[in-house]
Amino acid sequence: MSSKVIVTIFGASGDLAKRKLYPSLFRLYKSGNLSKHFAVIGTARRPWSKEYFESVVVESIADLADSPEQAQEFASHFYYQSHDVQDTEHYIELRKLQNRLNEEYQAEHNKLFFLSMAPQFFGTIAKHLKSENIVDGKGFERLIVEKPFGTDLESASQLNDDLLATFDEEQIFRIDHYLGKEMIQSIFAIRFANLLFENIWNREYIDNVQITFAEKLGVEERGGYYDESGALRDMVQNHTLQLLSLLAMDKPNSFTKDEIRAEKIKVFERLTQPSQEDLKKYFIRGQYKSGKVNGKKYISYRSEPNVNPESMTETFVSGAFFVDSDRFRDVPFFFRTGKRLTEKGTHVNIVFKQMDSIFGEKLAPNVLTIYIQPTEGFSLSVNGKEVGELFSLSPISLDYRTEATASGASPEPYEKLIFDVLNNDSTNFSHWEEVKASWKLIDQIEELWRNNQAPLHEYAVGTMGPSASAELLAQFGAEWQWNPQN
Ligand code: NAD
Repeated sequence: MSSKVIVTIFGASGDLAKRKLYPSLFRLYKSGNLSKHFAVIGTARRPWSKEYFESVVVESIADLADSPEQAQEFASHFYYQSHDVQDTEHYIELRKLQNRLNEEYQAEHNKLFFLSMAPQFFGTIAKHLKSENIVDGKGFERLIVEKPFGTDLESASQLNDDLLATFDEEQIFRIDHYLGKEMIQSIFAIRFANLLFENIWNREYIDNVQITFAEKLGVEERGGYYDESGALRDMVQNHTLQLLSLLAMDKPNSFTKDEIRAEKIKVFERLTQPSQEDLKKYFIRGQYKSGKVNGKKYISYRSEPNVNPESMTETFVSGAFFVDSDRFRDVPFFFRTGKRLTEKGTHVNIVFKQMDSIFGEKLAPNVLTIYIQPTEGFSLSVNGKEVGELFSLSPISLDYRTEATASGASPEPYEKLIFDVLNNDSTNFSHWEEVKASWKLIDQIEELWRNNQAPLHEYAVGTMGPSASAELLAQFGAEWQWNPQN
């Protein structure tokens, strides 16, 4: 790994930079992955001094540093440039600073650019980086872009073309921070390091797959952004489909980024494009209404700050995707995600087919559950004999839960992802072909909804969404495995 690098962050005064990027860079510094030969240039509109920027950085890592001296030493690597991304003069200044720091820190011209601001600026930044010769072909040059990557296929394609004018696909790292989570990466281990699972990971044995991204919170202060986006674009186009691809992919020939990517891309390309009829049947949207949970009152989505009082934006979506591969043809991949649900959690349930029973009673299916957050781990439910004289069966859960995140043993997603970029490892990032295929599918659903060809179901706060979501699974003779109660 090269720890010699000048990192330039666009949007350095923003929320993401303070909450995630500086702490993650600090963790990499503490673990020795970044040491002497790195500097960070923070750019944003505000006129900050280097001293002030350092104090912002120190504050953001206060809980992580062993001593004030350590925090200060780290922050001394940070430089600030007040910068309007539309102003060419500012890039000329940026190049001078970049060159100076490259000399000072002997960074071997390696450059990492992190675009941590509104995507409408990405194109102009990429263009200027090239025209002002900041991207000069010396050393490695990599670009990290934040989500959302477009709002539909057209805007995503435009954005991609803008970036490709300066960077190659291999240099572009599209962040999906879920892919940095420990248990998402553990899916590779569960699937490809266990004969037990890999041999039955197919349509012969798997009845359905269920992916849940549940939030207990409402839209909080993000109402303005969310009302334009909705759950489908905010959570499904990226995180849900990325997770699905890891669950549905074939076994790569080797555990390398190119082989893994090739298999993932095949899944995206084989996502079934539903007919108009299926679109109406298989995708459910919902919006939370006002209500009480455990005596506490909650306002409706439409009453949230910065939300249109007549908004038709979905705060919940569930549906069924299909992958037309030999491995998974006709197996539904159910998903649901929403705000103001019963409990926060990201879970995957792999529901195996029911066995013929010789016991005169119906057998519960085996279910493998992967807990991604807030707890990490997995459990397997198997049928066992109840202790006693009579022979009766009951499901037993074999549980493995770790407290790795709580104890700090798991890396933060952004730490892991920045580490990967420094290693030039794009395994845990979204490839353009994946983004393109996912927008193609999502656009169809959006269009149906925009034309109001499917109902917007209301749901009560503190539930797991509208009843239509359970009815969707019932069409397939299935039911949601995770049913948290208040
Ligand atoms: P933010 O609004 O807090 O910060 C935006 C930054 O951009 C600020 O530093 C601001 O000074 C800078 N900026 C805005 N206009 C500028 C201009 N014309 N010239 C120069 N700088 C300008 O945003 P954020 O929450 O930090 O999010 C950054 C990006 O990360 C967005 O793309 C967002 O969608 C994405 N994201 C954020 C989070 C999060 O938790 N905050 C999570 C996922 C994705």
